[in-house]
Amino acid sequence: MYVDSHCHLDFPELRQNLPEILERMQANRVTHALCVSVNLPDWPGLIGLVESQERLWASVGVHPDYEDTPDPEPEELVRLATHPKVVAIGETGLDYYRLTDAPEWQRQRFRRHIRAARDSGLPLIVHTRASAQDTLDILREEGAHEVGGVMHCFTESWEVAQAAMDLNFHISLSGIVTFKNASALHDVAARMPLDRLLIETDSPYLAPVPYRGKTNDPSLVMHVAARIAQLKGLEPEDVGQASTENFFNLFSKIRR
Ligand SMILES: [Zn+2]
Ligand SMILES: [Zn+2]
Repeated sequence: MYVDSHCHLDFPELRQNLPEILERMQANRVTHALCVSVNLPDWPGLIGLVESQERLWASVGVHPDYEDTPDPEPEELVRLATHPKVVAIGETGLDYYRLTDAPEWQRQRFRRHIRAARDSGLPLIVHTRASAQDTLDILREEGAHEVGGVMHCFTESWEVAQAAMDLNFHISLSGIVTFKNASALHDVAARMPLDRLLIETDSPYLAPVPYRGKTNDPSLVMHVAARIAQLKGLEPEDVGQASTENFFNLFSKIRR
């Protein structure tokens, strides 16, 4: 069995096909999916979605790419996170790829999320792109190891993976690991200890091979597991089982 540790089922292109996606998840033995928040205006829709489905869970947070959106105070995040179906804070982090001027507001927003995670005792879902050193520095400065979390859609080096694991973080691999040209990430996957590994789709984006370029959804997460297994000389079920176990340990509010 498999779980998808990061998806955006509330985005319109997925939400409009929800019944079919839930059926395909069942057929592919994908038992749970974590629907990750990107901003607060869309929060009511996201929490409504996971309230209506036993197998769907949520995080709360504001993505670093959302520039013109209300910035949450830690207290507000902590309050929203008391909902029984909210199991993590995020996605949060830094993205200097989209916003090349590395704005200070991104780092402030990230720090507020880490404080909210520590106050609520929930793990963090961290997005980092072209900003690994600042991301690690801020995690360290704000004491993020107390709650831990996951570096989602990981595309950094093995050295960054090791530094993140030293800070009590898991590493989540997406469909990118199935892409032919991702040789550095193949190396990370081969070296990753199984007890720190999560898998995700980040759907609707990043559909794994052989669906690359199509709309992704959580039912395809098994293809991520299969490629990691191949790189490690294991069976897909081994990766499925380990990553599922890690998922329930990290997001401990989730009921099996
Ligand atoms: Zn992300
Ligand atoms: Zn995401």
